[in-house]
Parts: sequence; structure tokens; C-alpha cells
Amino acid sequence: MSNTIYDVIIIGGGPAGLTAALYNARARLKVLVLEKSKLGGQITITHEIANFPGAVYGEGDEPSGPELMDRMVEQAKKFGAEIKVGEDVCDLEVDGKVKKLTCKNGNVYEAKAIICANGASPRHIGCPGEVELTGKGVSYCATCDGAFFEDMEVYVVGGGNSAVEEATMLAGIARKVTLIQNLSTLTADAIAIENIHKQDNVEYIFDSVVQEIRGDGIVEEMDIKNTKTGEVTTFTADEEDGTFGVFIFIGYVPSTDIYKGKVPLNDWGYIESDADMKTSIPGVFAAGDIRPKSLRQVITACGDGAIAAHSAQRYVEHYEA
Ligand SMILES: Cc1cc2nc3c(=O)[nH]c(=O)nc-3n(C[C@H](O)[C@H](O)[C@H](O)COP(=O)(O)OP(=O)(O)OC[C@H]3O[C@@H](n4cnc5c(N)ncnc54)[C@H](O)[C@@H]3O)c2cc1C
Repeated sequence: MSNTIYDVIIIGGGPAGLTAALYNARARLKVLVLEKSKLGGQITITHEIANFPGAVYGEGDEPSGPELMDRMVEQAKKFGAEIKVGEDVCDLEVDGKVKKLTCKNGNVYEAKAIICANGASPRHIGCPGEVELTGKGVSYCATCDGAFFEDMEVYVVGGGNSAVEEATMLAGIARKVTLIQNLSTLTADAIAIENIHKQDNVEYIFDSVVQEIRGDGIVEEMDIKNTKTGEVTTFTADEEDGTFGVFIFIGYVPSTDIYKGKVPLNDWGYIESDADMKTSIPGVFAAGDIRPKSLRQVITACGDGAIAAHSAQRYVEHYEA
């Protein structure tokens, strides 16, 4: 353990965490961001960022999610934020004046205040074969894995914004995209639906869920059940292709396991916090997708990050050891 006691440690290097880091660094606080895997968070897995003011991209431009996040990282660093990648926070002590964070690699960090900005991770279907075939045809990231299915068949599970936008992107790569939605309609916003309807290689299966995915080391077959009729249909890989892609976008679950019993969570597992991003634990703040909210987007995550940083700054200014 180092002897440094940071003013603020931010758990998570997504839009919320990086914005908080920027604000706290500009306030000349000693701030550290701990990121377990890849800086930038969820938005780095999408080809295009929608609804972020000023980020206007058209067809043929570079992927904008990663690009925007690279800029956020640079900006936070420029003003003095320390950022460490590969630090997976697995335990925390938050009751005392000094907060103590332990990472899976054994590193221990201390701070006067912490901002929980670990966001969310993809929800799994929970059907047989899903886990075993992840990375072998089953994917949660079209930008990462779409190219493996060039001119092949892919299935996209879900009907909200992420599913529809990613399916539209995949339609430009795959021979055929079939969207499987458990409801009778798509629930994405109007522009996303307009865009997917312009694609002539997209088909839809409504009122249906994936029941099982099978394959010998690679996806080969999938059972889909119609929830209204109970009928089960088996989809088999085209003989020449030998496989197909299953891209799952059915929502996200908050990454809050480490906070259980330490920071109050609501019934759905989100960190309870007020409009100033304060939790009921002094010196512990929350920002971004990890909080209960009606709109989970980059802009709302950034807004939370700015407010959390401001609240943490005020807490640190009045801190008495
Ligand atoms: C496919 C897809 C497309 C999207 N498209 C858009 C869009 O076009 N426009 C838009 O505004 N929003 C979009 N969103 C939503 C947007 O990405 C999220 O709302 C936003 O990223 C939330 O930011 P966050 O910082 O709260 O959390 P996250 O982005 O989830 O970042 C959290 C970070 O914390 C890290 N972390 C988690 N646990 C730990 C731990 N224990 N220790 C250390 N680090 C940890 C994670 O690795 C991650 O980097 C999209 C999301 C997805 C998945």
C-alpha cells in the first residue's frame, strides 16, 4: 500500500468517472481514477454515438464512441488526473474517515472521498449455451465482433435502442440480420427505427425469446421460442458458413456487487444517491449508470460526474482528519 492519501478516488473510467476526474483535477485536488479493463466504458463498444451534443458524425466517419472517450481521457490527464488501468476494485472500507479500496491484484488505495462510477454491464439471456459460446459466436459488442461475420448470418437479440442501432450497423457487414424481440414491437426511438427499416437485409421475429444456443466450440444452432404460441423453432448455421453470430443487447445490470452491505442499494441494485450524488455514507458519492435514473446516456453520466466531483470537492474542503 502506498502512503498517499488521495483527495478523491474514482472507481470506473467511463464517461461519468472521467468527467468527475476532469472537474476534480481542475480544482487541483489529488485525484485518481481506477479502471479495471478499458478506459471509456460502455460507449467504446458502439460504432456511433448518438445524442451527445456537438458530436455529429455521418456515414463513413471514424468510430465516434472510442474517439470521444480518448479525448475525455486526454483532457482529464492534461489537468493532472492520475489514471490507472488494470485496477479491478474488489473490496472497500467506507465507514472510516479514510476510505480504503482493495483491487484484485492486491493493490490498496486510500482516499478522503470516493466516487462510485462503475456503470453497468450487459444483461445475459441466461439460456443454456450462452456462457459457453461467448466469444465463439455469442457477443455483446457489434463493433468488436461484427467483422467476424462479414457476409454471414447474424441474429440480434433485443428491440431497444442498443439492439436496433447495432443491428443497423451489422446489416452493413452481414449477409442477413434477424432481430429477435420478446415484445410485439421495437422499443427503440423513432430515428433508430427509421434507420433500420431502410436496410433490406433485416428480418424480424417478434414475441420470441432465445431458449438455447448450441455448438461444438462455435455457435451452430439456436432454439427460439414464440412466447405466445409456445412453438420452438431451431435455426441452424448455413452449411457453407458453418456458424452464425448471436449479438445480445437486452439491457444492462449495475456493477454494484462490491457495494453490497457497504453502500445502500435500491431494490434493483443501483446505488441510492441524492441530486448532489451523495450517498448516505459521508464521503461516498455515485455517478452515472450505477445510479437509479430514467435515462442512461453519456450526457447524463457526464452530468452526474460533474455534480459528484463538485460535491466531493466540497466534502474534501471541509474534511477534518
Ligand atoms: C452498445 C451501446 C451503445 C450505446 N450508445 C449510446 C449512444 O449512442 N449515446 C449515448 O449517449 N449513450 C449510449 N450508450 C449508453 C452509454 O454508453 C452509457 O450510458 C454510459 O457509458 C454510462 O457511463 P458510466 O461512466 O456511468 O458507466 P460505464 O460506461 O459503464 O463505465 C464504467 C466503467 O467502470 C469500470 N468498472 C466497473 N467495475 C469496476 C471495478 N470494480 N473497478 C474498476 N473499474 C470498474 C468499467 O470497466 C467501465 O469502464 C450506449 C451503451 C451501449 C452498451
